[in-house]
Amino acid sequence: MLQQDHLFINGSMVAANGEQALPVTDSFTEEVFASYRSASHDDVHSAVAAARAAWPGWSATPLVERVAAVRRVAAALTEQAEALTTAISREVGMPRKLAARIQVGAPIAAWNNYADLAAELAWETRVGHSLVQLVPVGVVASITPWNYPLHQITGKVAPALLAGCTVVLKPSEIAPTSAALLADAIQQANLPPGVFNLVQGIGPDIGEMLISHPDIDMVSFTGSTRAGSHIAGVAASQIKRLSLELGGKSASLVLPGSDLPTAVKTTLAGCMLNSGQTCSATTRLLVQRNALPEAEQILQELIGSYRMGDPADTATRLGPLVSAQQRKKVQAMIDDAVAAGARPVGAKQPVPDRGFFIPPTVLADVTPSMTIAMEEVFGPVLCLMGYDDIEEGIALANGTEYGLAGTVWGPATPDTLAVARRIRAGQVDINGAPFNPAAPFGGFKKSGIGRENGHHGIREFLEPVAIQLPAALLESLPE
Ligand code: NAD
Repeated sequence: MLQQDHLFINGSMVAANGEQALPVTDSFTEEVFASYRSASHDDVHSAVAAARAAWPGWSATPLVERVAAVRRVAAALTEQAEALTTAISREVGMPRKLAARIQVGAPIAAWNNYADLAAELAWETRVGHSLVQLVPVGVVASITPWNYPLHQITGKVAPALLAGCTVVLKPSEIAPTSAALLADAIQQANLPPGVFNLVQGIGPDIGEMLISHPDIDMVSFTGSTRAGSHIAGVAASQIKRLSLELGGKSASLVLPGSDLPTAVKTTLAGCMLNSGQTCSATTRLLVQRNALPEAEQILQELIGSYRMGDPADTATRLGPLVSAQQRKKVQAMIDDAVAAGARPVGAKQPVPDRGFFIPPTVLADVTPSMTIAMEEVFGPVLCLMGYDDIEEGIALANGTEYGLAGTVWGPATPDTLAVARRIRAGQVDINGAPFNPAAPFGGFKKSGIGRENGHHGIREFLEPVAIQLPAALLESLPE
């Protein structure tokens, strides 16, 4: 078993001084395969002090050097790609082949993508007689979840470092290995001491201490809406800068004139990805009532192709859920929905005899007021719902407390675009157009505050400063 007792503070691997051991479970074998030691409160103080001390130097480091440093981190991570894939696939349960591409390849590419974007950002602009410059926020606490561990760490740490901020990261205790391997990569990339620091620990203890630490200027959090709401309160009491990437209940709205088989197939795939443990999963398929029987028929045929099994097996399409607790929560939500009148579609697949599996589930006859239609499930469960006219479809799509993502299916016409513009979510695609890492991602309503990815993602870690210039100085500046 891997015993990991180190944190990364002030440029060195240091022994963690916490009392608590943090076991990490393989979601397929159900065995503990690694154990991390928690930081102590003194370790958190040391990490924040190191980040604070490193900030003046790092924020004054020329952008080209920060960009080069981030590219070196991407290169060092590339060397760790195998180890990252193995760890994440075991921790989270995503089929290994998919994990290599989505959980590891995409985030490593994102480190380089952020570097490209930072190099072209308008760091200084002129507004009348004012010079408006973007300056780093300061010391950032990054708190991340388990479902796409490296992806979520990347969405915070890469843009923060490029912005000139220094960082203390506390990753999820359920999937801590990516963060440990990132610390290795940062050491190998030779970043100045204190620019990036890693503490391990549980949320209510080490996370709580970090977000409320007076020397933290900004909290960048991804996780559940419940924890995000609490964290927002702590940050507000100290007027800390805050960004929140929270839960979702995204709709796939199929308009008349759509290619129904493609819409249904793509929506199901978007729901089942990572066994439904994706914040932007398309969990509600909304089709016109007269098309419901055909949609149901297509789903019935497709659902059997989500073969459950060992994530290491290339034939596996649906891995286990992350934990026994998550499986219990998801099963209870399915049972409640069925008791409330939802109807499972298709034959139930046999469940492998080990692993935290929930079979791929499609529920028909779901009504808008059912809990399953309103709340995030975070499991492989698709709700099929009907609407009569387009206004009702749009109202249904927007009718939850969330607003993270959405899809609209329809003819490639301005009318379809007009419907997409009315979806109250931070990211909307038409006809399954692919994810764009340079475009902003984030939530309306209880899905969060702020944006990640693209220039917007870097801007989160910058504050504008306006300097009003006297005429003589203004004239002396180049246009
Ligand atoms: P979680 O809220 O339980 O934990 C997230 C992180 O917060 C962990 O590191 C945890 O230790 C920490 N934490 C918990 N309580 C804390 C506290 N009081 N103070 C400080 N830190 C605390 O979420 P999770 O179960 O790890 O992740 C799943 C959730 O994340 C889902 O709701 C999902 O939708 C959401 N998510 C959102 C996005 C997005 O971009 N919007 C992306 C991925 C996941």
